Amino acid sequence: MPINRRDFLKLTGATATGAAYAAFGFDLAPAYAQARSLKIDRATEVRSVCPYCAVGCSMIAYVTGHQAANTKPTLVHIEGDPDSPINEGTLCPKGASTMQLALGGSAERALRPKYRAPGADEWQDMSWDEALERITRLVKDTRDDTFEETDDDGNTVNRQRGFAFTGGATQSNEEGYLAAKLMRALGTVYIEQQARV
Ligand code: SF4
Repeated sequence: MPINRRDFLKLTGATATGAAYAAFGFDLAPAYAQARSLKIDRATEVRSVCPYCAVGCSMIAYVTGHQAANTKPTLVHIEGDPDSPINEGTLCPKGASTMQLALGGSAERALRPKYRAPGADEWQDMSWDEALERITRLVKDTRDDTFEETDDDGNTVNRQRGFAFTGGATQSNEEGYLAAKLMRALGTVYIEQQARV
């Protein structure tokens, strides 16, 4: 039977550990029984795709209480889909942390815009209204200051190179479409998307 590196490590690790505990007289039966009672027992498998990058790794989301009476669907686990030819069950560290995204993130997550004034070494909270007002003002002023109608050879370019735009993989298609339209309408040349999707 062909055996890969992962199977080999699991097999040798489990055998060696089990033998070591047994040698000291421990009864492993309760531990094995507990290990078999996984949190994904009775969960529904829902296939999904990692939202983070263009690799598009497949995922399985495990949901308990799915479509059952008097229950609230609860996401309990996400892992790579072993049937996917793209990632064969693996996820990179970012994809493996998708539960944090689904459940609202860690307690350390910034919930308000932060602003660090030029020369300052501390960030200060800013309201969303203040942040949007400031971004709007800077976009307008920068575009007005840097807009170029023609290049050095006299070709019409109607572009601005004073600021760039980068999107993120958690944006939906529709958000990405609108952002690209807006940036191109402003004449923005440098448009990038971390996920290239
Ligand atoms: S972020 Fe990682 S897990 Fe997600 S699609 Fe990209 S490579 Fe795959």
